[in-house]
Amino acid sequence: MAVVAPPVRAAKNAGLKPCATQVEEPLASPAKVSASPFRRALSETRQFTRPLELACAMLRRRRMRKLLTTSLLCLSAAGCGGSPDAPTTLDICDGFAPWETSAFVLPYAVNSAYFVSQGNCSPVQSDGGHRGVKKFGYDFDMPIGTPVLAARGGVVLQVEESHFDGQIAFTGLDNYVVITHDDGTADLYGHMTHDGVVVSIGDVVAAGQLIAYSGNTGNTANNPHLHFSVQTCDPVSRGTANCPTLPVTFRNADPNPTGLQVGRVYQAHPY
Ligand SMILES: [Zn+2]
Repeated sequence: MAVVAPPVRAAKNAGLKPCATQVEEPLASPAKVSASPFRRALSETRQFTRPLELACAMLRRRRMRKLLTTSLLCLSAAGCGGSPDAPTTLDICDGFAPWETSAFVLPYAVNSAYFVSQGNCSPVQSDGGHRGVKKFGYDFDMPIGTPVLAARGGVVLQVEESHFDGQIAFTGLDNYVVITHDDGTADLYGHMTHDGVVVSIGDVVAAGQLIAYSGNTGNTANNPHLHFSVQTCDPVSRGTANCPTLPVTFRNADPNPTGLQVGRVYQAHPY
């Protein structure tokens, strides 16, 4: 689809980047690699005369060689070891509330099921993903036009629906809804379809209420999906970087004590 020139509001949205394809925050430096333990193991090998000690020294030497190889690889590739299911230690994703009593339900219709393509601390491909302040965000792959329901009741604070599906951009151009709560947190629903929001600013919505239809606008990597994240404040007015995501579980999904897992399909159970 042809890319339409971004409206003025796109500039306003520059701070809203629900699904970055690059790591926005500098990665913590990999553990400093020192060859000295390896050299020590080598020198120990030369000193030992008894077979058992020699065998142990050689084992240590092999372990050090493996450690060095792994560490050097990490130095050359951001997100090393970060398969979608195995977050690295660069981000820590914990602090989840008990899922059985979670305030949240899955943001789609009961009995429907969708694939989680990004989740807690997951990189996307090899170049980032939901990391840093966005590390607790979820992406649910779903066709354009899928009903999006409020995951938690609240008040609609932000609405944007002017952009067009296929109008892909790293920053801005997202259609979205932000719903706030009394505790000051805000839920961000991203990438809605053009004119796909059915609520207005100021509306009070209940959990499970239809709020929008999903789409493929903004930073989606041209993969239609719903981005959902709970933020410490409104990311539209305050900026994503100032409103880090919070860990979230869902009470009507399969057991999810540490949130939803990337690569799994989750059906919305009745609640
Ligand atoms: Zn996302």
